[in-house]
Amino acid sequence: MTPSVDSTARSAELFARAQKATPGGVNSPVRAFSAVGGDPRFIASAQGCHLTDVDGNDYVDLVSSWGPMILGHAHPAVVEAVQKAAVGGLSFGAPTEAEVEIAEEIVDRVDPVQQVRLVNSGTEATMSAIRLARGFTGRSKIIKFSGCYHGHVDALLADAGSGIATLGLPTSPGVTGASAHDTLVLPYNDLNAVAKAFETYGDEIAAVITEAAAGNMGAVAPHDGFNAGLAELTRRNGALLIIDEVMTGFRVSPSGWYGLEGVGADLYTFGKVMSGGLPAAAFGGRADVMERLAPTGPVYQAGTLSGNPVAVAAGLATLRHADAEVYRTLDANADRLADLLHSALTEASVGHRVQRAGSMLSVFFTDEPDTQIVDYTGVKATQTWRFAPFFHALLERGVYPPPSAFEAWFVSAALDEDAFSRIADALPAAAQAAGSAASGAK
Ligand SMILES: *Cc1c(COP(=O)(O)O)cnc(C)c1O
Repeated sequence: MTPSVDSTARSAELFARAQKATPGGVNSPVRAFSAVGGDPRFIASAQGCHLTDVDGNDYVDLVSSWGPMILGHAHPAVVEAVQKAAVGGLSFGAPTEAEVEIAEEIVDRVDPVQQVRLVNSGTEATMSAIRLARGFTGRSKIIKFSGCYHGHVDALLADAGSGIATLGLPTSPGVTGASAHDTLVLPYNDLNAVAKAFETYGDEIAAVITEAAAGNMGAVAPHDGFNAGLAELTRRNGALLIIDEVMTGFRVSPSGWYGLEGVGADLYTFGKVMSGGLPAAAFGGRADVMERLAPTGPVYQAGTLSGNPVAVAAGLATLRHADAEVYRTLDANADRLADLLHSALTEASVGHRVQRAGSMLSVFFTDEPDTQIVDYTGVKATQTWRFAPFFHALLERGVYPPPSAFEAWFVSAALDEDAFSRIADALPAAAQAAGSAASGAK
């Protein structure tokens, strides 16, 4: 297929208008293209693996709404479920059968999860899980890992990867000393650091929260035994382990990272894929912990739109359609994309590593391609300045990767032969652009 991007005038016009009405013109920072420069594309519609912008340009989508759209955009079964739910009423403020069904679907898929509470975003899920862990243990401190992102929860924004990394912020103004004080930030994949923290603060630590596999500093999988070690250390010290599967959940396997690794945690957080693309998320885990939530327990947690019937319909339809064949396709598509990236960059002699965490992947530019990148320090030491020209060369040729070197790439099951041939055609020029990028350039 031919390169497809001509004019972007209408996106530019909308971006100018948006910047007057909305800070930075966007409702979530990474959408603004700050890390790569240029005007973000305003999207008019999406279908399968394609995005169409307001100027009529077509892109092969390798972001998938940052994870949710594993079936591709506007999947007929999901659209039909949403339409049917909408016709039946948009919100009731009372329980529904579909909420029971999605909770059961999650409980069935992820063994250690006995009960689930639905919320509206991944941020709300992690915020609530932290509150519950503190309420359950009667302790204050939490451990998180540098480069792991758990939503924009005050206590979890320290060294939080993702948009914060893209913008080069250590944390965020507006987060008080008090809410950051109880957060211990440790290097990812470093069990010794966790053991030491427990030696020092053992009976003050309520929980360790970790991404099941880090995806918000790019794809950085846990070492073998890292998550299991966290489970062991928390158990021995009377703290809870919260595994954040908002990104990995129901993407890397039918039961998320848990399905690949089998490490049981006390609490899990979910979002993205289980939302089907509408605002829905969840947290869940051990029944004795979950029952500490109101109304069975004293830990308060609530939401006017939680378990919204339209959002639940989208999530349920997505999970039900994500069968073994879909997961096989996601894995195969990730393999194929990784191979294409690796070949094009090798062909152009650009030092790089394509790292994987299940079907999530990222490209790191580095002169030490054989050295695994295991933590945020390693990620920050890569040649992130090669990313912007690489990104724009792809975008100009109708391929839409994540607009930041610190993000994972998300395949969908809808990528087809045409999409892959467009990616293959676009990559040589992008690899050239990455190779000739000048250090210090943005
Ligand atoms: C996206 C993400 C969140 C936050 O979810 P939102 O729905 O954006 O609030 C939390 N944790 C992880 C691991 C994520 O990838």
